[in-house]
Amino acid sequence: MHSQMESSHHLSHILTHLAEDREQYFQAIAPPVIQTSNFAFPNLTAFREAFSDELHSHVYSRGNNPTVEILRRKLAALEGTEDALVFSSGAGAIAAAVIGNVKAGDHVVCQQNPYSWTSALLRKFLSRFGVEHTFVDGSSIANIEAALRPNTRVLFLESPNTMTYECQDLAACAALAKSRGIVTMIDNSYCSPIYQNPASFGIDIVLHSGTKYLNGHSDVVVGVLCGSSEMVKKIFESELMTLGGILGPHDAALVIRGLRTLPLRVQRSQESAQWIIEKLENHPKVERIWYPFHHSFPQLELAKKQMRGCGGLFSVQFKTDDMEKMEAFIHKMERFLMAVSWGGHESLIIPTIGFYNIPGRPAPAAPWQFVRFYIGLEDPAWLWEDLERAMEAL
Ligand SMILES: *Cc1c(COP(=O)(O)O)cnc(C)c1O
Repeated sequence: MHSQMESSHHLSHILTHLAEDREQYFQAIAPPVIQTSNFAFPNLTAFREAFSDELHSHVYSRGNNPTVEILRRKLAALEGTEDALVFSSGAGAIAAAVIGNVKAGDHVVCQQNPYSWTSALLRKFLSRFGVEHTFVDGSSIANIEAALRPNTRVLFLESPNTMTYECQDLAACAALAKSRGIVTMIDNSYCSPIYQNPASFGIDIVLHSGTKYLNGHSDVVVGVLCGSSEMVKKIFESELMTLGGILGPHDAALVIRGLRTLPLRVQRSQESAQWIIEKLENHPKVERIWYPFHHSFPQLELAKKQMRGCGGLFSVQFKTDDMEKMEAFIHKMERFLMAVSWGGHESLIIPTIGFYNIPGRPAPAAPWQFVRFYIGLEDPAWLWEDLERAMEAL
């Protein structure tokens, strides 16, 4: 086990030095954007050598690119895995990980409330290719075990998820899956590598929507897949190279820049979120708060066991019987922006009521008094002023 200081020194090294070979580019502090599609070979020996390992050499930028490789190496080190790949979106990374480990006739077990497009991948996409799935309440390992079949190949976790923050016991899931030869994978976007490292519990593939905390500035869509050299090579040679959902070097450079401040940003988001939650929990218009480290959270003990922190995403159910008042409350918030995504500099709300009354779309299961908050990097007192004033409408 690393001590706190050792691990923060390790983090500083990764974010400032790792994979940055400045002698290659005039001792520049910021790595260059190697904006090229292809690379020339001085002779046939170099040609043959490059083609023996396209994942780590420079042949063609659909495979590897020096700017992208700096990012890949930092991400692998942050998650404590041997290697990593990046994709043009989190959805692309998730799809590559699942598709890369199933064939027709196989079965996937997934925790019951994953990110909506992860659910769509299993329900609408893989079902067309003869891959079955079961969604399961992952709060107990017995439920997961009961859902496993002889043809189960993948156990997909998302712990916590990003609306109600349900958790799965990562060590128990990894041990169970390993005993049955099942590949485990997790969407780790909620925690970021700063607050949870699933590979340290034995999880095989760690996925991120890097669009959220990793890039952190709401200006790039990016996906991350971390795993063993063998697993990464397998997915690289098949899903990455054939489906081709790569990240370009310019976006990679932006994400490298985002990573420089990752520990500071998630810590600030967390501190501000906890400060606002403390104010909310004593407010008469608040019915319930969802946040993995909140004293009311049903899986608090498990969350504390496997997470070092929580970050800035939480949900609140407000106390009102009047939909019009709820809408007025949402409209009165001026400093929080109403938008999807999270993990950037800006504070956001996603109100469930926004999903009601959309033609052709069924109303969501969550009650309309429910709002997901993301707390960004602004002054929390400035945000609270806005929220407190808006709550007068309730
Ligand atoms: C946003 C998100 C995704 C999808 O990532 P994109 O980068 O938008 O493709 C997957 N999982 C979680 C938890 C997310 O929040």
